[in-house]
Amino acid sequence: MYRSTLAQIIANLNSKKISSVELCEIFLQRIAQFNGSLNAFITVNEEQALAQAKSADAKRASGEQAPLLGVPLAEKDIFCTEGIKTSCASKMLDNFIAPYNSTVTEKFKQAGYVCLGKTNMDEFAMGSSTETSFYGPCLNPWDENKVPGGSSGGSAAAVAAHLAPASSGTDTGGSIRQPSAFCGITGIKPTYGRISRWGMIAFASSLDQAGPMAQTAEDAALLLNVMAGHDAKDSTSVDQAVPNYCSTLNQAIGGMVIGLPKQFFSSDLDPAMAQQVENAAKELEKLGAKLRPVDLPHAHLSVPAYYIIAPAECSSNLSRYDGVRFGHRSEQAENLEQLYKLSRAEGFGEEVQRRILIGTYVLSEGFYDAYYLKAQQIRRLIKNDFQQAFQEVDLLLAPTTPTPAFNLDHEHDPVTMYLNDIYTIGVNLAGLPAISLPAGDISGLPVGMQLIGNYFEESRLLKVAHQFQQATTWHKNSPAQFSSRRAKIPNTQFNNTHSNIGQIKWNGKQ
Ligand code: GLN
Repeated sequence: MYRSTLAQIIANLNSKKISSVELCEIFLQRIAQFNGSLNAFITVNEEQALAQAKSADAKRASGEQAPLLGVPLAEKDIFCTEGIKTSCASKMLDNFIAPYNSTVTEKFKQAGYVCLGKTNMDEFAMGSSTETSFYGPCLNPWDENKVPGGSSGGSAAAVAAHLAPASSGTDTGGSIRQPSAFCGITGIKPTYGRISRWGMIAFASSLDQAGPMAQTAEDAALLLNVMAGHDAKDSTSVDQAVPNYCSTLNQAIGGMVIGLPKQFFSSDLDPAMAQQVENAAKELEKLGAKLRPVDLPHAHLSVPAYYIIAPAECSSNLSRYDGVRFGHRSEQAENLEQLYKLSRAEGFGEEVQRRILIGTYVLSEGFYDAYYLKAQQIRRLIKNDFQQAFQEVDLLLAPTTPTPAFNLDHEHDPVTMYLNDIYTIGVNLAGLPAISLPAGDISGLPVGMQLIGNYFEESRLLKVAHQFQQATTWHKNSPAQFSSRRAKIPNTQFNNTHSNIGQIKWNGKQ
């Protein structure tokens, strides 16, 4: 049962093959068994989850219906959840319990879900490996020496290891797609504004977007149906009707024109990766799609532009953590200025501090025009490139990442790490929707491919992904260790879950 997709779980609940309490117990038991080694969850919501499941079963018995009634899900620890710790994987928010739900959480709640817990991530969603988490890194279920990607690495690992059937994630520069690719699952970053950002802790507000992370495109469609929609509380959420993303999944894709951006198949791409993605493209050709090369001439500028714009916005967003209103407060301060400085120095990790410094620098007088303004101009060129491409093709196909999952805990220099996002970031700068789905395998590690659509064309992306998954089996592969009853448990043991307890150490770093 734990390997079932969301669609199968809903069918089984509907036909009374299983109760929500039974389901919930299965997943909580797996979390208890594996989370100590994987570190996919920061907080496990055991008691409340069982109570929610019990109430869902009672509602079903009395004839009530809701799209996710009794369905257990994981939530990235960036979404405010009333009464459950929301840490954003930072010491700064290690003591933060939100007094309200994010809109995404509220929508899940209205749909009847059961919250299994909050997943691990890079601190404030800044990173591509989940190693910047205050709670220690999450491991990749396919190979415990590899990262699961980031920042939504905990969500991806939880779904890949079947600790939860699906999860929420957020994507500012690739954080849904890159971990989905590294862990062999399906994740969609919708059009900017498609899902409300209210109550989702802000990193870079003009780029942040929530989305589902699941085992299949069909499951992602089911979740997107619940998550999408206008919200008066988020002025950037778009007031446009939400289609039923499931109703078009079975439409044929014959005649569709798919563009392969030349710049995304250049020498930066691992040749083995290129081969896998090209094979996947041929599979789509067999389904009737037409392939065509396209140009995105400014693609190489997306990483430098992003690493100016995102830090600029984060330096502003994170100024609210001052040790006064909420979050970590230093006990060493002797006056107000020291309180600000020490609380921030103690509460933020190294990567977050680096970004705040870069952001403050590029926004400062004398540098604003040279950096921030220039980056915004480049952002427009990147958006225009995509718009030009969509005049010629219906969607774009690219690798999600330049390589499969990389090693955990090697000395990452920040720039090498940033280059990892080369294929995902342009999409965020342009505000477009994109989906990553499993498309191959290199030495036992999953390979992800990315489909990029024009604004609000999530249905088209999900349809093509679903058709691909009907014709292939990559999405059905599961990491062996987490797929059998006699699973071997890796040696690493984390012990920071189940409530609001503090930090753990990872190789001496915290
Ligand atoms: N890896 C990128 C960064 O570190 C993207 C993160 C994200 O999408 N949240 O900024």
